[in-house]
Amino acid sequence: MEQIIILGSSNAVAKLGQENTHLFIDTPDKKIMVDCGDNPMAKLTAIGTTINEITDLVLTHFHADHLGSLPLLIMDMWLEKRQMPLTIHGLEYTLDRAKRLLELFNWQNWQNMFQVEFNVIAESGSQGFITGKDVTVSALPVLHLVPTIGLRFEFKNSRVVTYSCDTEPCDNLYRLAQNADVLMQEAAGESKGHTSAKQAGEIATRCHVKKLVLIHYERRHGEETLVSEARKGFMGEVVMAQDLMRV
Ligand SMILES: [Zn+2]
Repeated sequence: MEQIIILGSSNAVAKLGQENTHLFIDTPDKKIMVDCGDNPMAKLTAIGTTINEITDLVLTHFHADHLGSLPLLIMDMWLEKRQMPLTIHGLEYTLDRAKRLLELFNWQNWQNMFQVEFNVIAESGSQGFITGKDVTVSALPVLHLVPTIGLRFEFKNSRVVTYSCDTEPCDNLYRLAQNADVLMQEAAGESKGHTSAKQAGEIATRCHVKKLVLIHYERRHGEETLVSEARKGFMGEVVMAQDLMRV
């Protein structure tokens, strides 16, 4: 059965047992990783899969906590003798910088390097930029400190999951989250380019979301405190994302 596994749930400052926010979407044909912070290799092993099963990598934005491990991931795929092509999706701003990062490691000269395709997501967003048998993934630009996309996953069983990525509340986030079964909403705290737990609850209510998962949060703020903040604005179920949690 298709599912989303939270590989990391932390804000930018990872903790022992709580890595930077990144996700794995497991469907029969599409194995999609969203962002690439910390140590996805170990996390994928922990859930019984491997990096070379990944078909698509979505980079939501060019911040180190979201793609700092990209060169290591690509190198490990190569060391593990990957044959299958990999498609990396992102905004032009993100992919340009990601390519430059990889070039610093001379990846163009690695022997028997597998094929990497770059799929540029338009600045205005992209409907169905990944279309698998069981899942369709769409993106819209959200409001963060650098160009960033939020994501909406529509599954064949008609379930919808939204991942806000890093953003403050904005119209495109509301569009992405509209009537979602699950909203995985960043809750780094109220500041420019980010959202607080209280605002996350308000977004969930406004968008008629069934379940709210707070992610990309600072554990030191206290998980119970964050849940009660979110509940001020939302009557539905609220849970804190944890590493290796399945959605
Ligand atoms: Zn960010």
